[in-house]
Amino acid sequence: LMQLFRPLDMLGWVYRTIRQGLVDMADMFKLLDRAVEVEDAPGAPALVLREPTVVFDNVTFGYDKERPILKGLSFEAKAGAHIALVGPSGAGKSTVGRLLFRFYDPWEGRILIDGTDIAEVTQESLRAAIGIVPQDTVLFNDTLRYNIAYGREGASDEEIAQAARDAAIAPFIDKLALGYDTQVGERGLKLSGGEKQRVAIARTLLKGPRILLLDEATSALDSRTEQDILETLRRVSAGRTTIAIAHRLSTIADADLIHVMDDGRVVEQGDHAGLLRLGGLYAEMWNRQLSEAAELQDAAE
Ligand code: ADP
Ligand code: MG
Repeated sequence: LMQLFRPLDMLGWVYRTIRQGLVDMADMFKLLDRAVEVEDAPGAPALVLREPTVVFDNVTFGYDKERPILKGLSFEAKAGAHIALVGPSGAGKSTVGRLLFRFYDPWEGRILIDGTDIAEVTQESLRAAIGIVPQDTVLFNDTLRYNIAYGREGASDEEIAQAARDAAIAPFIDKLALGYDTQVGERGLKLSGGEKQRVAIARTLLKGPRILLLDEATSALDSRTEQDILETLRRVSAGRTTIAIAHRLSTIADADLIHVMDDGRVVEQGDHAGLLRLGGLYAEMWNRQLSEAAELQDAAE
């Protein structure tokens, strides 16, 4: 009987999670079945990270044989630099993140971290080096402590509290009667979008990754909360190689280097001012988003 119940519990969790809109169904199943398809090379060593530089070298990849999504994509994130990947939706930005985590292998080209091809090291060591703050954070029906510590097994209460302070969620937790023992999720305290993202940031900080991937980390938030979370992200990403993926350009305008993706390639790169001067796709997207923001403002008044 127990054996019957476990898969049902799992399905129930998957179903509830999807229904709450916490996670994209396709992504979920992809994660569940894809993660086992890529295997470690025999005798693969752990990734040794001195300088956490990330390089995509002429990467071509698609989910279906007939349809490449990335078509010779190249870019570099120097150790400690903050780069952004921007571009229209469907350009392949999130696919870059999935390849960096090695949920899939490229058809052609290589992905290098600190000069090492990520296909040659253990997936465990690779994934330990990279923290992700996704658009929607999955919270487990469990305590805040559990949800934060999910970033690293065996974390002490003090380490959890420090991560919560750094993610600026500690003041909120300290006001709760049960503090870190408060149950969250659908059967417990409902957190706002911003609070959930702060839990995700604390979770990521606890992992202590030298590479940070922010995939539309603030795009589900209202603009005031977005500014607060961006401020926290700027603080916690200092000194870490950071790849910020964003559709909304105002959130990445201060990146050291912005790569503009279109149709699976980098078509423009530079900093914000340089890309505006270039007067290409970036400038066009920027101007469109400015006028959309102005229209929203008008509609609100
Ligand atoms: P972006 O993040 O830039 O919006 P994505 O990387 O998520 O783009 O997706 C790029 C393209 O790949 C889209 O056309 C999307 O439909 C397709 N795609 C994403 N995931 C899958 C999948 N698991 N199977 C097939 N196609 C996919
Ligand atoms: Mg995406």
